[in-house]
Amino acid sequence: MKKAIYPGSFDPITKGHYDIIERSSKIFDEVVIVLMNNPGKQALFSVEERLEMIKQTCTSLHNVSFDIGEGLTVHYAKSKEANVMIRGIRAVQDYEYELRNATANMWLDPKIETCFFMAKPEYSFLSSSSVKEIASFGGDVSKFVNPFVIEKLQEKFKK
Ligand code: ADP
Repeated sequence: MKKAIYPGSFDPITKGHYDIIERSSKIFDEVVIVLMNNPGKQALFSVEERLEMIKQTCTSLHNVSFDIGEGLTVHYAKSKEANVMIRGIRAVQDYEYELRNATANMWLDPKIETCFFMAKPEYSFLSSSSVKEIASFGGDVSKFVNPFVIEKLQEKFKK
């Protein structure tokens, strides 16, 4: 059975993330979306809120499950007996960052492969940060996130 993990911050999950999840779920038998809890990284949403938005966004994908991880992603992958890590690439900036991480991970555990998916052109400039910025000024983000996430963003920025 081919099992892959898709680690990330998902603060919040966007349609760009969802596209990668849907495409990878057709290739792997099981995909685990792992919300990597990095206490050093300031997030808008709590881990629980982010996980809830991931679940709501992915309800129709039956071979996709969810988890929270901590520490090094290669250690997490090994503990779950997954030997593939999925990442998305939007532009050259992502390539440099992802190359650095994938190379470090190869040193840490050569048995674990990083598998890259190129972003769909319509999502190639979409990031969780831009969604948060647009939403914070009351802009329309319905092209980028699902309705449940819009509600959560509105709640956050009302306060
Ligand atoms: P991280 O903090 O680990 O980069 P993110 O949630 O920002 O977490 O992203 C997780 C992965 O999804 C990364 O590989 C990132 O490049 C990818 N990704 C983010 N947004 C998109 C998008 N719009 N299209 C394709 N891949 C994306």
